[in-house]
Amino acid sequence: MSEQKYWEEEWETLDRAGIEAKQLESLKEIVRFAYDNAVYYKRSFDEAGVSPEDIKSLEDIRKFPFIDKQTERKTQGIGSMVGELCAVDEKDIIFISASSGSTGVPTVSPFNQKDFDEWMNIESRLMYQAGMRKNDRYMHGINFSLFVGGPCVLGAQRLGAMGIWSGTLPSDRLLFIIQQFKPTFLQTTPSYALYLGETAKKKGIDPKDLSVKRIIVAGEPGGSIPATRKAIENLWDAKLIEFYGLSDIFGACAGMCDEQDGLHLAEDHILAETVDVKTGEVLPDGETGELVFTSLRKHARPMIRFRTGDIGYIDKTPCKCGRTSARIHIVGRKDDMFIVSGVNIFPSDVETVLHELDGITSEYRIHVYERDYTARYGVEVEKASPDADEEALKKLVVGALKSRIGVKPDYIKILKDGELPRAEHKAKRLIDERGHETDSAILI
Ligand SMILES: [Zn+2]
Repeated sequence: MSEQKYWEEEWETLDRAGIEAKQLESLKEIVRFAYDNAVYYKRSFDEAGVSPEDIKSLEDIRKFPFIDKQTERKTQGIGSMVGELCAVDEKDIIFISASSGSTGVPTVSPFNQKDFDEWMNIESRLMYQAGMRKNDRYMHGINFSLFVGGPCVLGAQRLGAMGIWSGTLPSDRLLFIIQQFKPTFLQTTPSYALYLGETAKKKGIDPKDLSVKRIIVAGEPGGSIPATRKAIENLWDAKLIEFYGLSDIFGACAGMCDEQDGLHLAEDHILAETVDVKTGEVLPDGETGELVFTSLRKHARPMIRFRTGDIGYIDKTPCKCGRTSARIHIVGRKDDMFIVSGVNIFPSDVETVLHELDGITSEYRIHVYERDYTARYGVEVEKASPDADEEALKKLVVGALKSRIGVKPDYIKILKDGELPRAEHKAKRLIDERGHETDSAILI
């Protein structure tokens, strides 16, 4: 018997009209359920003068108010621990994950048993789409503590692969475990995949000789940055597959297929819109804006028009792999975007340029600050070789950033290999010093 190509062929190859008909059925049900069972939605829909009966087509969701991270924070702990957005009795909740916020108070994401089981099916689907099969060994090298990405390992086990729950072990130990258990799949963040590969090389181990054939990355935009993807793939001689998820809904809800051209979104669970960041106006498919998600099947806490804070666009054209679901392309986080001389810059733009240059390591840090009431930026990079010509490197980096991004950095600081902090999870690439003048800049 030949191997099945898709995890759920009927759904994954359904035509657009079929996808949308199923979405509409789920949307009507979840909006009604949210209104009838969550204190917040009853109040907010009433205030906005909308009701569940208003949903007659998918576009009708546009009449409904947005929610965001602030809504989660403000309603959490009111009425119950999980708060006013929750639509089921607390005794029916079997799992919560949490995301840390800048305030230090974690926001919770609750699941009932059905939510959790359906979520795991999505993880199996995305892993199967990523090329994972029963004979694979899957090392889940990401954080387990409260993090919504932790349970995704169960999706791999559900499809029959071997789960290796390594979490974020120290890199020496992780490399040793890779040598012993020989995983074929590794999941981590893109910055850590680079760091781990470089660490291996320094210890005299060529990552290409290790067993890892595919690397799933999530948590940072690197997987969609061609230069970063190539750097990781070359370092490990492995194919890179990017996943995207958000704690507010669930772990991975979109992932790449072999084509590596955008991330197939689980449209049976999520209705996606793109909106103008400033006005909230809905943009046509293909235009870049803030992604807004409505969860279609999560009952413990329905998320109706959640502003994700992620900037990207939606592509509904058919994919070469045969799957018909929309693909999302993430450009960056709204909070990380900075504007210099009228040019919108994401850290991923800087990364794209830096990762194409020779003579520097893959580590970098961007400083954004104000001088004379104008935003400026500087970049710290590391020289790959101790005796590199620093002036020549500076020139190379400044020239590349100027020509590719259009705005010259105020300074480039050349550091030694290893001077920038290495992240075990998510790398801190952007230091935002706006709001106070800085004197740390070395002007060039
Ligand atoms: Zn595809």
